[in-house]
Amino acid sequence: MATILKGAEVVEALNAEIIKEAEALRAEGIEPTLAILRVGERGDDISYEKGVTKRAEKVNVAIRNVILPVDVSQDDLVDAIENLNADSKVHGVLMFRPLPGHLDEDYVRNKLDPAKDIDGITDASTVGVFTGVNSGFAPCTPSACMEILEHFDVSIKGKNAVVVGRSLVVGKPAAMMLLERQATVTIAHSKTTDLPSVVRAADIVIACVGRAEMITADYLRTGQVVIDVGINVTEEGALVGDVDFSAAEGIVDFITPVPGGVGTVTTSVNLKHVVSAARNQNK
Ligand code: NDP
Repeated sequence: MATILKGAEVVEALNAEIIKEAEALRAEGIEPTLAILRVGERGDDISYEKGVTKRAEKVNVAIRNVILPVDVSQDDLVDAIENLNADSKVHGVLMFRPLPGHLDEDYVRNKLDPAKDIDGITDASTVGVFTGVNSGFAPCTPSACMEILEHFDVSIKGKNAVVVGRSLVVGKPAAMMLLERQATVTIAHSKTTDLPSVVRAADIVIACVGRAEMITADYLRTGQVVIDVGINVTEEGALVGDVDFSAAEGIVDFITPVPGGVGTVTTSVNLKHVVSAARNQNK
């Protein structure tokens, strides 16, 4: 049976790290602060905001809420971002997306100062993931995958890794981060030929497809480490990953659960980035 790589264990370790750094910053008179910028009243934004706020309280990171009406003008939204950029008491900004349709999201997100881009949404942050020269932060979801691998001492160097999915927010940065850690990386996608063989050949599998339980027993073999990024809701209303967990846990060596895996670690990565940003801005 596979060992389950529980997100809670990683969160606990990350929280301890964040608390220590937040305390050190406070001792220097710096209150690490995350601004949460929300446009409108989308239910999933509000529930994520509540989750981040609760987690932030636990680790001594202050939250500043900036809530703008759903019909905010682009100029007013950009002003709000520029005010946060200029505010030396705010170290990181989390802006929920997608933005309402009347706003040019690509234009708006790039107004954020990369130094405060703790969620890795600016082009400058993305470039940093690919060049290794960081002016911002890597996106939180692939960072959470790396935190899990590192926490559980999964050896990456020299291993064959496959990332199934090539989005700019998850798949591509995850592949670059594995490459940076000396893995030999394959990026698979919807046009990949014989995906089961490609996935079976890998030692480390990162599934970020967005298709419920698509990765079944015939994609897997013993010896593999599987990180399941997928969050899918079945017709019955159950939350499942991209990997058929019940089949996989009898085959592979290590696997993350859904829920309780990558998703829960992502929030702590956001907060880890806030304390790093606070430190960088006060060097
Ligand atoms: P996207 O839809 O942007 O990308 C999905 C990728 O999967 C695409 O590259 C697509 O290939 C590939 N794909 C789709 N169908 C297949 C298939 N049949 N075989 C192989 N590859 C396929 O999704 P995201 O990257 O934004 O998200 C992926 C998953 O991760 C989702 O379930 C999402 O909910 C979850 N997620 C989880 C987070 C967390 O914190 N845990 C955060 C963000 C996302 P192609 O490019 O060829 O179309």
